[in-house]
Amino acid sequence: MPIATVNPANGETLRTFEELGAEEIEQRLAAAASAFRDYRTTDLSERARLLNRAADLLEEDQESIARTMTTEMGKPLAAARAEAAKCVKAMRWYAAHAAELLADEHPPQTEVADSGAALARVRYRPLGVVLAVMPWNFPLWQVVRFAAPALMAGNTGLLKHASNVPQTALYLGDLFRRAGFPEGCFQTLLVGSRAVEGILRDPRVAAATLTGSEPAGRSVAAIAGDEVKKTVLELGGSDPFVVMPSADLERAVRTAVTARVQNNGQSCIAAKRFIVHADVHDAFVERFTARMAGLTVGDPMADTTDVGPLASEQGRADLEELVDDAVRRGATALCGGQRPKDLPQGWFYEPTVLTGITPDMRIHREEAFGPVATVYRVGDVEEAVELANDTPFGLSSNVWTTDAAEQERFARDIEAGGVFFNGMTASHPALPFGGVKRSGYGRELSGHGIKEFCNVTTVWHG
Ligand code: NDP
Repeated sequence: MPIATVNPANGETLRTFEELGAEEIEQRLAAAASAFRDYRTTDLSERARLLNRAADLLEEDQESIARTMTTEMGKPLAAARAEAAKCVKAMRWYAAHAAELLADEHPPQTEVADSGAALARVRYRPLGVVLAVMPWNFPLWQVVRFAAPALMAGNTGLLKHASNVPQTALYLGDLFRRAGFPEGCFQTLLVGSRAVEGILRDPRVAAATLTGSEPAGRSVAAIAGDEVKKTVLELGGSDPFVVMPSADLERAVRTAVTARVQNNGQSCIAAKRFIVHADVHDAFVERFTARMAGLTVGDPMADTTDVGPLASEQGRADLEELVDDAVRRGATALCGGQRPKDLPQGWFYEPTVLTGITPDMRIHREEAFGPVATVYRVGDVEEAVELANDTPFGLSSNVWTTDAAEQERFARDIEAGGVFFNGMTASHPALPFGGVKRSGYGRELSGHGIKEFCNVTTVWHG
């Protein structure tokens, strides 16, 4: 994949970039390792000052970086602005909370006395240089969600961003440099995915985090496993959105639409499979389909647009194949199911609602990365839980019910890293984020996220 900015709204190539050569990669690896030697000993208050400065700069740049993101990957401009604001908030959150999250822990003396310890504590020390392989769908947020805690913990970062968002990638490297982080603390590497193996195997790289597809995650985890290096993986999802009879149906429908089409449908935590109790199924489907069909698809720079283009031609082709396979095997498209006729240029796809899904359809098991919803009818809680779990993924889940016993049942039994009741899944700096099964492992955000790239050190005094 060439490293280039190609506007998905019209297919126009705006800028292309040269990949870094071996010598430039070597320079950056050396700089990252050398920066770590000093940076790891800096005060948390100094790191917080730098991160707050980065947050201030990003806040000033909100409009321009939002436009860059929309140009590179097609999300509606309002969503791009919101993404930048969310990054500012997360940076400030980690700047404010890292000291307390990373404070030494003291197990009760009575518990450790029989180890012979006069005193024992747990100290969180940084791991070293961390490689971040990141995707294009939230091109600022996915990176900041890694970088803010990693830098606060005293690590240094190397960013290999997706090849279709090079300008956002370069902006990020520049942002941390402008904020005053020492040279080498956070660097962007403009390289393709083929260069990842060599970088990851380099002894100066301690660990890696990847957000993206399952094949990319498997490859990075296999190499890291071979090198015995820590990884965090945040891969795809096919989150269920369960609607039970006690739900506020109008709110559930409105939220369902947003949860499915946010970011033009290209979000790992988007609700993708709508599992609706028979008592409310028909009413839900009718209102949901009407709203999906009524969305405005078009220019992502326009304020009136709800759904922009998919980020790449390949991404749209993959989505079309999933829908066509389902329809060929008997599914019904209640709306959409095709490219919009009035938008011949660019990689647009109509918001789509599919019913009549059966297990032999690819879409039943694979992630639909675009504005396509599948709706299922279930008879009871049992069936809802079973269907919610009938997927290789386990990122998050949404359940609409006001019944306390049902809530307990879903909270206990849904195989996912999150269960959101009467709302939609969203990430927040103070809450852990990540999945189980093929959605990956490890957690980002909160205290859990910052500790992923720490050496949890037992300090024992005899
Ligand atoms: P990829 O997983 O291919 O891309 C994500 C990142 O991984 C990019 O930086 C990419 O680099 C890199 N990468 C790709 N293959 C490898 C590899 N073998 N070794 C190391 N790094 C690699 O995602 P796609 O853009 O191809 O999207 C495909 C599907 O992945 C989507 O349809 C969706 O299902 C899922 N996805 C999930 C995301 C999430 O948020 N969980 C985000 C994006 C995609 P490069 O761009 O240079 O190829």
